[in-house]
Amino acid sequence: MPMLTDDYKYKGARTKLVTELATKGIQDAGVLKALQLVPRHYFFPKTFYSHAYEDKAFPIGEGQTISQPYTVAYQTQVLHIEKGDKVLEIGTGSGYQAAILMQMGATVYSIERHQALSLKAATLLHKMGYKPVLKHGDGTKGWPQFAPFDKIIVTAGAPVVPQALIEQLAIGGIMVIPVGNEQKQRMVSVIKKSASQIETIELDQFAFVPLIGEQGWQH
Ligand code: SAH
Repeated sequence: MPMLTDDYKYKGARTKLVTELATKGIQDAGVLKALQLVPRHYFFPKTFYSHAYEDKAFPIGEGQTISQPYTVAYQTQVLHIEKGDKVLEIGTGSGYQAAILMQMGATVYSIERHQALSLKAATLLHKMGYKPVLKHGDGTKGWPQFAPFDKIIVTAGAPVVPQALIEQLAIGGIMVIPVGNEQKQRMVSVIKKSASQIETIELDQFAFVPLIGEQGWQH
């Protein structure tokens, strides 16, 4: 992996991006601060560094993408992250969303079904000084050994909310997950009111790559 360098040019580009996200409706100051601090270009191949601060998704290999900054900010805002939160992420991808969560003081457990992406994210995140707990596998089954989680974020489009994830959410916890068909999904926030009661709130529409697994799409 090449040396990681950040400079005033990239910092300026991040300031511009953060201002753009604020005009698009992102209000959580902690979320905006994290996007200002985490260099998104580290998650890009060097030749494409100049694209890192456009509000767009970008290919990361294996047919997957790093989510659009607006989407990352939106999902993070729905979670109301507090320092010390234990967060489960399904779909590590590039590791950028995990970095944003850790920058905000969360402890992150993240699962990725493509081993090559998981290994690449592990190397980069450690090099950046973050300490995520990562594994390669089917995230639709959650990670029972570490449950319950204060927050759960699913970064791929699901046909339904996987039951295992509802079970592994702490009481009072929040999950954010895009639910729909393979073309478009509605962002859903699931709040666990008690052991047997959840509240589901439907939010805006997005387009994610599919969540593939036992409680996801069967490919
Ligand atoms: N959070 C990522 C977004 C990556 S795109 C980022 O910040 O870059 C979604 C990712 O979910 C893809 O890498 C895809 O391989 C992964 N994915 C899809 N289904 C999965 C499953 N069942 N378990 C774990 N990861 C899954």
